[in-house]
Amino acid sequence: MIAFRLPKKNLFAATAAVACIMTVFPLAVIAGASPQAPQADGRRPLRDVAGFYGFPHVNVTADQFVCSSAYSSLVFEANSRRLTYNGTLVYLNGPVGGPRDRWRIDAADVDTTIDALLRPSRVLPDRPTRVIVIDPGHGGADLGAVGARNVEEKRVVLDIARRVRAKLQSQPFTVHLTREDDYYLGLEERVELANALGADLFVSIHINSVQNTMVSGVETFVLPASGYPPTSRNDMNGVAGETVSGNSFDAANTLLGYLLQKELLAVAGTPDRGLKRARFAVLKGIRSPAALVECGFVSNPHEEERFLQAQYRDQLAEAIARAIRNFAGRIQ
Ligand SMILES: [Zn+2]
Repeated sequence: MIAFRLPKKNLFAATAAVACIMTVFPLAVIAGASPQAPQADGRRPLRDVAGFYGFPHVNVTADQFVCSSAYSSLVFEANSRRLTYNGTLVYLNGPVGGPRDRWRIDAADVDTTIDALLRPSRVLPDRPTRVIVIDPGHGGADLGAVGARNVEEKRVVLDIARRVRAKLQSQPFTVHLTREDDYYLGLEERVELANALGADLFVSIHINSVQNTMVSGVETFVLPASGYPPTSRNDMNGVAGETVSGNSFDAANTLLGYLLQKELLAVAGTPDRGLKRARFAVLKGIRSPAALVECGFVSNPHEEERFLQAQYRDQLAEAIARAIRNFAGRIQ
């Protein structure tokens, strides 16, 4: 939690300083004051948030609220949790919106999503990222998703996980897999193992499947913030989302999830299904930043064919490794 109340005068001074620095440095390197405190209902005017981060351009239509600079852009959608950050879809915890240009955003999303994307060095853990735990989903009798050509999720994700380890297994990282081979491991056991290994970062690797064989694309999951529903739930009312230990890393989770989604999309070239939020058992109890990636759909014949190719699995592994290196490298 980084919010604290700033006198209004100081806020404007800080904003001016940020705008000045902006002419030299990209947004991500700016350090300094926190975004202004929320209003009584825990929401913040989106225009003030854009000003705080020094966006020189704000364009509001009935459907979109767009903040942009020479370095980055945020595209918010009306009464929606969908945010597109530099071309990648990131689901907020709560919807933004409001009359005319007086849109507002939940303070929790400023602190754990917007700040994570724009000022990552402020939200990352103090400790360096050294111990990486990669979790290949399923295993043994649990095949995971199976395609029409009998491509099994458990085998594809184990191969990708081994490749990620090979790419990262050198200084400064130590990389562990939750399962080394084709055997079953429960979700709680995976969490306990990662914590016992002293994980600084946890990534669970999966492959998707749905009935509709046309569906394709990449999606990444992190925990919703405390009190928020998962992305799959459309009604925002009456949902008291639980607080779990993984919520200590909400902002870092968002950054890790965003980096994974961005890198996976770059190699897959498939539809961007977004960085989503869900309280998956394998994410809830992890005592480090954690994310779960769904690298594509084995139910889609074209994607199943790609999973058969070692070169493609290697590209996916390289994307995951690149995101991890990028995350670790941002800790200052
Ligand atoms: Zn799976």
